[in-house]
Amino acid sequence: MNQSIVACGKKIDIGRRVVLWSEKGGFRCPNPRGRAACRQHDPVLNDRPTRPFADYRFRDAGQAHAELAQTVHQLILHYDACYSSHHCHQVLKASDFKGSHFYLDLDGTLYQTCDLYWKTNTAPADDRLGNERSVHVEMANLGWEARLNESTLYPIDRDQYQLQNGQWVLHLPEKYRGRLPAPGFTPVPARAHRLRGYFSRRVNGKIVRMWDFTEEQYQTLIALARGIGHLLPGIAARVPYDPETRRTPLDRIENFASFHGILGHAHVQQGSPGGPDAKYDPGSAFNWSRLRVALGQHPGAPEKSKA
Ligand SMILES: [Zn+2]
Repeated sequence: MNQSIVACGKKIDIGRRVVLWSEKGGFRCPNPRGRAACRQHDPVLNDRPTRPFADYRFRDAGQAHAELAQTVHQLILHYDACYSSHHCHQVLKASDFKGSHFYLDLDGTLYQTCDLYWKTNTAPADDRLGNERSVHVEMANLGWEARLNESTLYPIDRDQYQLQNGQWVLHLPEKYRGRLPAPGFTPVPARAHRLRGYFSRRVNGKIVRMWDFTEEQYQTLIALARGIGHLLPGIAARVPYDPETRRTPLDRIENFASFHGILGHAHVQQGSPGGPDAKYDPGSAFNWSRLRVALGQHPGAPEKSKA
């Protein structure tokens, strides 16, 4: 059973289940692209249209890794605004340019969809160069679409998280429940506001009301965050941190292009008229201080409030 992530044929064992694109039950990135700064592939692969998956080949793996390590210095975290990774893959497949290197499912299973040598288009960032320097993970979570009165993405008739025996549970439609690798898995947020369940904070100007990721997702994400720097040393084991508030900020940061480490999509993209859209992921519920502490970084201020 594979537990390794892969860049240019090099592997690092992260100690959690990783389903590779080449495995049965794996997902192939629907729209890989070549990175402009890497030279071990045919440059026609940098642009549209998407070619057959087998056409995305690089020549010298050692040289490809050296070039990739020079180019990539950010791991960008996203919520996928989907019910599950299977659902996320269907949504990305329907696009002619989108993709993500990793999907992180509700039960903590990590999918890698292509070698990290390739670019995937998930976060242009405010300078439109974000995907060139990044590796992406789409974490299964409905994001701010999880409440009935705010949902626009999917036809639903009730709030998608329901209180059952004192515990908030995500109601997964049958077609997605049956697709989780862990059969019978019950998706429960790792933390919940005592009364209302969801978290509510402002991100890049929008009040984002969302439920937390699952405990299993945090454990796998932390393993990924610790492991990826061994493959790509430019991705430092750190997240943005404001020494004044002693917290990780939620809004776009000033040095979003030069930062070496692990960032949220919202940290690199506040959007502008005629430019990229404003982004809010991984959102108000994501537990930045837990990731920061797991990486050995500033413990920061104690989490006063659960929301
Ligand atoms: Zn995103």
